[in-house]
Amino acid sequence: MDKIIVFETFYNPIEANIVKARLLDSDIQCFLSDENTVTINPLYTQALGGVKLHLFEKDAEAARTLLEMKEEIPQQHTAEEPQHTGVSCPRCGSTDVGYVQATKNRFGILTTIVSLLLVVYPFYANKTQHCFNCSHEFDK
Ligand SMILES: [Zn+2]
Repeated sequence: MDKIIVFETFYNPIEANIVKARLLDSDIQCFLSDENTVTINPLYTQALGGVKLHLFEKDAEAARTLLEMKEEIPQQHTAEEPQHTGVSCPRCGSTDVGYVQATKNRFGILTTIVSLLLVVYPFYANKTQHCFNCSHEFDK
């Protein structure tokens, strides 16, 4: 039986889930503890010592290497790329217009999990046409 260790402690449950997803994505088995309590009442985070990420001791080295390799965490807002729709801007006439879509499937499971966690933000509800020439936003 392999020994299970606390690999890392997080004060941000979302960050903990991102790291967990990244490890699972690379077939490193791991799980979080105290996550629900921290999520429901962040004030308990300090008392509990944060969200703990557990994994097999034998995987710790691989996990550390993996996390150092991929430092970048997907940022919902900086990662977005416009999807051009062929609509032109009513203000300046530019065709450099597209739906600003916050959730693209470029990060696979990570994005899916982050999207689920951030479900409180109405990414889809707020989709509008955005002109990249003059920054005018408008509905179709
Ligand atoms: Zn415009």
